[in-house]
Amino acid sequence: MLHQEKVQAALRKATTEGVLGEGHPVAGFIDVQGVRDSVTALHDAFAHVPDVLHAFAVKACPLVPVLRLLADAGMGCEVASPGETRLALAAGFTPERMVLDSPAKTRAEIREALTLGIALNADNLTELDRVDALRPQHSRSVIGLRVNPQVGAGTIAAMSTATHHSKFGVALDDPGARARVLEAFLRRPWLTRLHAHVGSQGCPLPLIAKGLAALHRLAEDINAYVGRRQVTSLDLGGGLPVNFSDDTTMPTFKDYVRVLADAEPALLDGRYELVTEFGRSLLAKNGFTAAVVEYVKTSGGRRIALTHAGAQVATRTVFMPEAWPVRITGHAPDGVLKTTPAVPQDVAGPLCFAGDVVAHERLLPELSEGDLVVLHDTGAYYFSAPWAYNSLPRPGVYGVLHRAGDTVLVPVRSPQPVEELVEESGGCHAEALLGP
Ligand SMILES: *Cc1c(COP(=O)(O)O)cnc(C)c1O
Repeated sequence: MLHQEKVQAALRKATTEGVLGEGHPVAGFIDVQGVRDSVTALHDAFAHVPDVLHAFAVKACPLVPVLRLLADAGMGCEVASPGETRLALAAGFTPERMVLDSPAKTRAEIREALTLGIALNADNLTELDRVDALRPQHSRSVIGLRVNPQVGAGTIAAMSTATHHSKFGVALDDPGARARVLEAFLRRPWLTRLHAHVGSQGCPLPLIAKGLAALHRLAEDINAYVGRRQVTSLDLGGGLPVNFSDDTTMPTFKDYVRVLADAEPALLDGRYELVTEFGRSLLAKNGFTAAVVEYVKTSGGRRIALTHAGAQVATRTVFMPEAWPVRITGHAPDGVLKTTPAVPQDVAGPLCFAGDVVAHERLLPELSEGDLVVLHDTGAYYFSAPWAYNSLPRPGVYGVLHRAGDTVLVPVRSPQPVEELVEESGGCHAEALLGP
């Protein structure tokens, strides 16, 4: 089924079943077959590399049923906080298929990973000292070191992790850094992995490849320095950019592998086990957000459609609209795509600040009260990672399945009840500030 047909079928189901409408003005949707297809595309692209663990970056879609689906499809996962670790375990990932990359690991986090046997990439040399102190004699955890090849930024500064001043990893080109890294490996025979994540959305493939080529050469240098093949695996991070401007998947995982193979052929020859950590590229295009148009008004002559798809589900788009434009389509109340002539209009959210607008002067068929808007390609880092501003509830998320020729919606995350909002806002401490 074409993407647009899937969207319309899901909207029709959502409005007839009431998961979208009165009481539920916004919801997220995940195309289950689409996720499986993306995982297959990833595995196919690396099929010629003997030993690869594809670890999904949990932050891109921290929803237990989605993680369970990914585990079932053959993925491992990358976690970066105690909460993500817990979600991954709840989803059924076994520790040997997990990688912990938290940027500022507490001692408790390190201890937990080493006890459970979860692989861990230390962010810096001081963190390695903590690992020295906490490592049990027979830990099964693969332990690595994250380095920053300092190859520079992509088009979005906040997404570029391998800049000169990035907060991540050991900055390799800083004076004395390489020598310290070589020494760190020499002193720790159990340190067997190198890790880099060059950047996320906005980092062009050649930049990523340049960083990973540097990672591979460093592994060779370390092994030469210590006189044996101590570094046996390379964790390449994620960061394949996503095309947000139409339905085409571009670049593909195959493009990624081709650019990598051109830049550093030996990287993929099987002498190193590989780990990948893709997030956005697996989920973004397999999810969308839908919201009901509550009101339409004009202000200073501009049409504005007010919906509940605002900064709480599209935070980056609202705050950095140039870097994170999102594709929007207008639909009739029954989900059918509107095709009337396009007129410029704002699509605004429900939050109490003026900037809460997901599209400015966007050319769309004239929207009316009761219509629906769809924010496309929002399966990663949007509704799955909501922002708590204005105490808006987390919207419901539904899996879209096709069974026996019919579209079926299954619950992935229930809409947040207001009672839970009270509870997580200190409801049980209501009296705490009274009294003498
Ligand atoms: C965010 C992140 C990823 C995933 O990045 P995507 O752009 O979603 O592929 C992978 N590894 C690390 C260390 C990250 O911080």
